Amino acid sequence: MPVFLITNDDGYFSPGIQALREELKKLGRVVTVAPDRNLSGVGHSLTFNMPLRIRRVDEDFWTVIGGTPADCVHLGYYVILEGKKPDLVCSGINEGPNLGEDITYSGTVSGAMEGRILGIPSVAFSAFGRDEVDFRSVAQVCKEVVLKVLQYGMPEDTYLNVNIPNLPPDEIRGFMFTRQGKRAYKEKVLRLLDPQRRPLYWITAEEFGWELEEGTDYWAVYHGYVSITPLQLDLTNHRALRSLQERWRV
Ligand SMILES: [Mg+2]
Repeated sequence: MPVFLITNDDGYFSPGIQALREELKKLGRVVTVAPDRNLSGVGHSLTFNMPLRIRRVDEDFWTVIGGTPADCVHLGYYVILEGKKPDLVCSGINEGPNLGEDITYSGTVSGAMEGRILGIPSVAFSAFGRDEVDFRSVAQVCKEVVLKVLQYGMPEDTYLNVNIPNLPPDEIRGFMFTRQGKRAYKEKVLRLLDPQRRPLYWITAEEFGWELEEGTDYWAVYHGYVSITPLQLDLTNHRALRSLQERWRV
């Protein structure tokens, strides 16, 4: 029976992680270790500057007080599973997509990245769509992806970023392997005033605006496909490595 370690960045109470947990329980043992609060946008931060406390929520269900998704996977592996590798780390289901350069900020994707750093095949799941997400039906798509990963495995150094359109199952057009797209909405900084009339700033984003390029993660979800982008830990720009070596003659 496969063992799954799951986390998210929306918090242990989020309907996305609960739906994923219920669906994966049909396949094996699901050990959930998730933050105690919404940490969307926390990226791959690992907590070095203070100790962390783990609290039990339910059977095989834990929350790390103040812990990030990376902390949760780290402690899930070393403490809860006592260093025994699960078959798969899953992160999500995030409420909202993780596409293009946004995955750099994503706590959801970072949960999967931490799993890969620990040498475990890992997948991040996010839901794409404007309307309220039907997590039960999105979780069924996650289960299909998990079954494929269990069947075919995953190349070394690879983890998957999966974005699932929030559509009725019969409107989803299938799986598509994609590359990471480019940021498609404008950053915006709101300026507010505090009661003493001193300025405050709130980083936000304007409405989605599509820069659709075929073969990208954006393109796939926009057209109703489940986008699966293979990511890697090696961030080296290998093309630049060669061209810099040639130009600098070092
Ligand atoms: Mg989130």
